[in-house]
Amino acid sequence: MPMMTGQQYEDSLRKLNLKVYMFGERVENVVDNPIIRPSMEAVKLTYDLAQDPQYEDLMTATSHLSGEKINRFTHIHQSTDDLVKKTKMGRLLGSLTGCCFQRCVGMDAVNALSIVTYDIDQKFGTEYNKRFLTYLQYVQENDFTCDGAMTDPKGDRSLPPSKQPDPDAFMHVVEERDDGIVVSGAKAHQTGAVNSHEIIIMPTISMREEDKDWAISFALPADAEGITYIMGRQSCDTRKLEEGTMDRGNGIYGGHESLVVFDNVFVPWDRVFMFKEWEFAGRLVEHFASYHRQSYACKAGVGDVLIGAAQTAAQYNGVAKASHVKDKLIEMNHLNETLFCGSVACAAQGGKEPSGTYLVDTLLANVCKQNVTRFPYEIARLAQDIAGGLMVTMPSEADLRSPEVGKWVNKYFKANPEVSTENRMRILRLIENLTLGTAAVGYLTESMHGAGSPQAQRIMIARQVNMAQKQKVAKKLAGIEEEQA
Ligand code: SF4
Ligand code: FE
Repeated sequence: MPMMTGQQYEDSLRKLNLKVYMFGERVENVVDNPIIRPSMEAVKLTYDLAQDPQYEDLMTATSHLSGEKINRFTHIHQSTDDLVKKTKMGRLLGSLTGCCFQRCVGMDAVNALSIVTYDIDQKFGTEYNKRFLTYLQYVQENDFTCDGAMTDPKGDRSLPPSKQPDPDAFMHVVEERDDGIVVSGAKAHQTGAVNSHEIIIMPTISMREEDKDWAISFALPADAEGITYIMGRQSCDTRKLEEGTMDRGNGIYGGHESLVVFDNVFVPWDRVFMFKEWEFAGRLVEHFASYHRQSYACKAGVGDVLIGAAQTAAQYNGVAKASHVKDKLIEMNHLNETLFCGSVACAAQGGKEPSGTYLVDTLLANVCKQNVTRFPYEIARLAQDIAGGLMVTMPSEADLRSPEVGKWVNKYFKANPEVSTENRMRILRLIENLTLGTAAVGYLTESMHGAGSPQAQRIMIARQVNMAQKQKVAKKLAGIEEEQA
């Protein structure tokens, strides 16, 4: 069974025994929990679309290991065409869900590991790549969703892992045994963690020799003994507990994040992909980050939804013909397509690594993500401008339905006579959701900090541009002949 249907995916999650906490209590039924369920629905769409002939080309690929048709989210990129399709897949899913669909982190983790395990073996004569590919085949055969987990809590930012007052600030080895290792630590901000079958751990920063106990990578079933998930809050999250779906804005989909704690967890050797090879921690971080910075084509997809909502709000408000409104929508589209351009460009300019895996152009992936840290905020600002203040002051769905005051809500919030007040309120709630509510976590703050905060990309841009070449040509054209020092 190389590909699951959405329903099979949902059923498979029910078999997991995850230890999840939310609002201080254990969540017994994770799949049907009203706050978590919309995020499961978004991942489920990655399975359903792969079954749809219309999306087959983007959503599926041929495994380079088994030759079988697999979901692209479990695929190792074999060409720049694969990378471009990955970008398009992300935009497609963002544009259909209006939220983070969570499955990219696992895809980005397996691709980065396919490269780095090979590179470690080349240097040290180890067998990580073989071990990793056996694991990957298992992931592909079962069509798993994996949480690619990189971000450690990091403790005191001025100190490396080995100097932290609390050694658990970064995930580390606490015991080495004949049959495997025991690890402790945590991963923060984990997107889609409780919708995943597997969790793949990677280090979060470059390391030095003294940090080698922290230079580890491994994979575990999501419900392995000793793993606990603590759900993150999202702005307006408890609206999902209310009667009626209108005030949620997005009535179907959502995302989630959680803190994942590893309390003395055993990892068998066949699932360990890096063990104290501290020299390669930085490379794994950079490759994962570059792939994930490409993945932010999802934001162009979510931008599509926000632009569609803004145009609709303009029509419902009766201002769609105003030239400044039209111009704002053009600007939103310009910014949104520029986001997409960066992701397409780094994919199209990708290249083959010694392992055979195709990696994005890392300079362009960083430029792509740098734009993502800014443009969604401007698109959101313009959407709020067009929506008007009612977006944040209008009464609830319950008031609209109230036998006492519903008539006033209806009467006073009517704008375009051809549109019901309810529909006007619905589209404004969606804009609220995307720019201030649960989806703003993914569309705005995650755009800022996900896959590395803005400064991380600026460092990479500075490192990767060929400044010497630019200067050389500039000086030549200016007729400058410098004495060699
Ligand atoms: Fe994928 Fe985007 Fe969510 Fe990251 S934020 S997991 S790239 S959908
Ligand atoms: Fe992310």
